[in-house]
Amino acid sequence: GKITIAIDGYSSTGKSTIAKQLAKLLGYVYVDTGAMYRAVTLYAMQKGYIGDEVEKVDELIADLSNINLQFEYNEDLGFSEMYLNGVNVEKEIRALPVSKLVSKVATLEEVRKKLVAMQQEMGKEKGLVMDGRDIGTVVFPDAEFKVFMTASPEKRAFRRYKELLDKGEKVSYDEVLKNVRYRDYIDSNRKFSPLKRAESAIEFDNSDMGLKEQLERIYNFALR
Ligand code: C5P
Repeated sequence: GKITIAIDGYSSTGKSTIAKQLAKLLGYVYVDTGAMYRAVTLYAMQKGYIGDEVEKVDELIADLSNINLQFEYNEDLGFSEMYLNGVNVEKEIRALPVSKLVSKVATLEEVRKKLVAMQQEMGKEKGLVMDGRDIGTVVFPDAEFKVFMTASPEKRAFRRYKELLDKGEKVSYDEVLKNVRYRDYIDSNRKFSPLKRAESAIEFDNSDMGLKEQLERIYNFALR
């Protein structure tokens, strides 16, 4: 029968690429929880609740119920895109300004509560691949298959840097590496659901592995 698959790990380990492909192979639904934290962050930036020098956390929390998040499947792309209050925000949520602030927003207990509840609702039916930081530990502790992805910060930053360049963003490798390390630190040390490997998760270091090999290995594991 169908199962729930939790894919967690550090920033830019290629979790979403693997999770997406795996879902496609299995005919499962794919949910990118990072997109949800990113969309809340974008909302907070737009409203002026958070920025390089502002942190109006209480105002953000008071406004959380006005944030409507929706995944909509895009036939042409073959995956879902994030809509924030009815607007497609895919491009903005992946850009560096959001990446720089998202880990801070993700430390907030109220934000996590709201998003975890939504994620659990989406996972009521099996046949789901979900990626994030706390899926195997908090969102679906009973997931039948859990993966914890790691790779060196330098490798991750380089992949992310190339991706952003391809999208036409003006970034430097050093800036991306700094952001990757910063998010690792905040994500691993926050009070609520810090990033850590679930006991039953298989650890997967993909520093020196191509996409095809990763996918084959994880797919074979998943089907055992
Ligand atoms: O996966 P992605 O890098 O897009 O996630 C962006 C940020 O959102 C992470 O660095 C982390 O701070 C936060 N996040 C989280 N819990 C999740 C998914 C993402 O805290 N389940």
